[in-house]
Amino acid sequence: AKAVGGGSVCLFEEAMLERIRFRQAIKHDLGLALERGELHLVYQPLLDLGSNRVSGFEALLRWDHEDRGTVSPAEFIPIAEEKGLIVPIGNWVLETACQEAAGWPEASSVAVNVSAVQFRSDSLPLMVAGALNRSGLLPHRLELEITESVLLHDSEHNMAILHALKKLGVRIVLDDFGTGFSSLSYLRLFPFDKLKLDRCFVSDIGRSVSSEAIIRATGEMGRALSMVTTAEGVETMEQLEWLRANGWAQVQGYLVGRPSKVPSTSIPDIGTATV
Ligand code: C2E
Ligand code: CA
Ligand code: CA
Ligand code: CA
Repeated sequence: AKAVGGGSVCLFEEAMLERIRFRQAIKHDLGLALERGELHLVYQPLLDLGSNRVSGFEALLRWDHEDRGTVSPAEFIPIAEEKGLIVPIGNWVLETACQEAAGWPEASSVAVNVSAVQFRSDSLPLMVAGALNRSGLLPHRLELEITESVLLHDSEHNMAILHALKKLGVRIVLDDFGTGFSSLSYLRLFPFDKLKLDRCFVSDIGRSVSSEAIIRATGEMGRALSMVTTAEGVETMEQLEWLRANGWAQVQGYLVGRPSKVPSTSIPDIGTATV
């Protein structure tokens, strides 16, 4: 029994060490990724359920590492935040998304994720204004996705930044709704333009009566507060139809389209729409 126990501790330590080595390598390489041009954006469509049209895309960051292949943002964004690199990387995302969206054939919107560190960096409203000016993208076509964790501390400062952004004419989205602890109090403090329900609720459709009750109530609340209601992580037709029947305005997920380099508005199995 002792040998087995020792063995598993050893395996555990091996895994820990591997993890630490991986993080250190990523940390080191991330600093060079921007200069080397290893970052690019992919775009995932958002489908309006009312018109059955793709009305916009979420920009998602990808890193093509020379020998690790594509590294997931879930893996490197926390490291970028620790190192303070998220500010230059986030600025690059903002700049690139605005430039690319400005060239899209019609006025579809582009959504950019903003990390907590970037949000609090003070320069965000200035950066956003600059990116809009340089690209010529109209402000209402830009959406900034913010999670509750972004808003956790120093709410007066946060509110000042949110209002400064709103004044620029961009749209503010409360992302990953339902996964944090304070969503409701933030809805009371700031008029978000859109609420994006986290995919953990969506995957429960047809499986959990309580999740369904929460989604229904969230949709009602969103509409009552004049927010666009969007559900993410929609993978099945059953989920899409359930959301449509319950008044949700927008869906995003693999069913409608995977993130891709060239924003695509054709939607398999649901019909085809054009931008
Ligand atoms: P998120 O903002 O919640 O983005 C949605 C994530 O769900 C994306 O993962 C997307 O590829 C994935 N997804 C979309 N549809 C489906 C579906 O139907 N099923 C499943 N299982 N997954 C789906 P991704 O691209 O790996 O990004 C992960 C997270 O990394 C994002 O979560 C976001 O928090 C962060 N992130 C990505 N790009 C950026 C960025 O430019 N800046 C910042 N600060 N964060 C970013
Ligand atoms: Ca997002
Ligand atoms: Ca999300
Ligand atoms: Ca998420």
